Parts: sequence; structure tokens; C-alpha cells
Amino acid sequence: MVDARAEEGQSPGPIASPGRALEAAIPFCERHPGTETELRCGRCEVTICPRCMIHAPGGIRCPDCAQLRRPVMYELGLSHYLRAGAVALFGAVALGAVSALLLPPTPAGGLLLLAIALLGGAGAATLLARAFDLVTNRKRGRALQLMAAGALFAAALLRLVVSGEVDLILRDTSGMIFAVIGAIVAWNRLA
Ligand SMILES: [Zn+2]
Ligand SMILES: [Zn+2]
Repeated sequence: MVDARAEEGQSPGPIASPGRALEAAIPFCERHPGTETELRCGRCEVTICPRCMIHAPGGIRCPDCAQLRRPVMYELGLSHYLRAGAVALFGAVALGAVSALLLPPTPAGGLLLLAIALLGGAGAATLLARAFDLVTNRKRGRALQLMAAGALFAAALLRLVVSGEVDLILRDTSGMIFAVIGAIVAWNRLA
């Protein structure tokens, strides 16, 4: 098969016939230079042809992008991890301190206390997920989910430390509800 691109490169004549111009307008596959194609990878926009294209959930992809499989929002760089980690750390300390002040650990139950813990956990998780969105430019994925859930459990533990009630660790019902509900909410937000 004749590579029309190479042929044109050798004779860059100023006058091109309409037929040649039309031919040149059709791009060639990046991987198969002899194959004309109108197809492009839906992610990196490189030309692909039926021989090398791969059907992915988000459309057709070049082999390189198909290997990555996951959308860009699940790709985290080191700076994303560092910034999310800092937010998780700060969030754990802040939430632990605030909840120790607003809702001191107590072995007592009570519907009101449980309701506050539930709402507090959901609210804290939403705030944390928003902070993650801000510092990671709305990244998603397992690493962030684990960091957020870890931060909420750490907050529940820290609130015991702050209020000097570490011996209540297995009886701090509101703290446990706060952490569990918060972890579930954050997990879903960052999925
Ligand atoms: Zn691609
Ligand atoms: Zn190809």
C-alpha cells in the first residue's frame, strides 16, 4: 500500500489537484500509517482505525488509553495524595476537637444524642468530601475514600483523647455512630 503522506512529503508542489487535497484531508491511523481513518481516540484524540481501536465503556479508545481504562478523575498524582492527606489529617484533628467540645463522650445513649451523632457524622463527611474536592480538583477513588473514612474514625478516637475519656472507647455510642455514618457518607461521595 502506498503511503500518501510520505509521497506528499517528497513532492511539496504548490499546486495540488482537488483530488489530492481531498485525499490529504483524510488522516491516517497513528499505528497503521497505510490506513486512512476518520476515527479518533475518545480520550487523547489520536487517530485510530478499526484494526487497533478498542471499545471501552466511554467510547472507542486507542490501545494506550484503553490500557489506562479509568477516567482521568480516578488518576491521582503525588500532589493530590499529599494535599488530600493534609486535609484528612487536619480534618481528623479539627472534627475530633470540635465534637469533643460540642458532644462530650458519654456511655449514655438517648435518642437526641444519637440523632445529633448521626447528623454530625453526615455533616462532617460532607464537609470533608468538599474539602477533598477543593484540593484534588474533584478526584475520586479508593485512596480518597479510605483517607476520608480514616479521618472520621481518627476524629472519633481523638475526641476521646481530647476529652480524656479514652477508657470509653468501646462505649462511646455517639462517637461510633458519628464515625460509621460519616465513613459511609464520605465513601459514597468520593466513589
Ligand atoms: Zn488515546
Ligand atoms: Zn490502526
